[in-house]
Amino acid sequence: MRDDICTIPVSEVFEENDGCPICRMRDTIEQRIITYILGDAMMEPDVRIETNKIGFCEMHYDKMLATRGRLQLSLMLQTHLDEINNEVFAKKLFNSYSKKGQKAAKISESCFICDKIEYGISRMIETIYRCYENEKDFRDLFNSQSQFCLPHYERLINGMNKKMSHYGSEFANNLSRITCDYSKSLYENITKYCALYDYRAEKGKMNDPEILNSVEDTVAFLSGKTNGK
Ligand SMILES: [Zn+2]
Ligand SMILES: [Zn+2]
Repeated sequence: MRDDICTIPVSEVFEENDGCPICRMRDTIEQRIITYILGDAMMEPDVRIETNKIGFCEMHYDKMLATRGRLQLSLMLQTHLDEINNEVFAKKLFNSYSKKGQKAAKISESCFICDKIEYGISRMIETIYRCYENEKDFRDLFNSQSQFCLPHYERLINGMNKKMSHYGSEFANNLSRITCDYSKSLYENITKYCALYDYRAEKGKMNDPEILNSVEDTVAFLSGKTNGK
């Protein structure tokens, strides 16, 4: 599979300032991979060998079902099933029930798209550390982000060890400041949201989008799922 599908220039991602930048990266990579495997990749034998073996997770089957390209999806499913029939259910010596169970579990637990996203994200996080360490413009871009979700905050802060010799503490301080400020603003908004249920609530606040969206925004912050927003 072409490497550039899983790669976006990090400065491009950080030039935007809406939601968690790592979530943005992930969503862009995911969309590109889905478009790719339901398009050009259909004819690429190396991709088909992998999708036949690995399959997809529930979420990505759903996303592919919601995408145009029924024929491409069905062709991919056809050869994936063929592989399962020949591998998991093979009438071979030593393919005991427990062996069949193990092979089925491996397929059920793996996802071609999740694997590629993980590959793309981990490389891009390395690039973020490197750019922060070496480029002032990127540091400014990073420091002016409005939010990071909690799972990506965790990933960025726990992965930085030893990779940033000069700007490590500046990176950690800014990342923590941005995430903490955002978490506090969510707390304020969700508190106001809860208060809307009080019969004495000010009617004017019912139209404030930050308050009205605070439940979805908090779930997105805690889970790192952007719900297509
Ligand atoms: Zn995120
Ligand atoms: Zn998946």
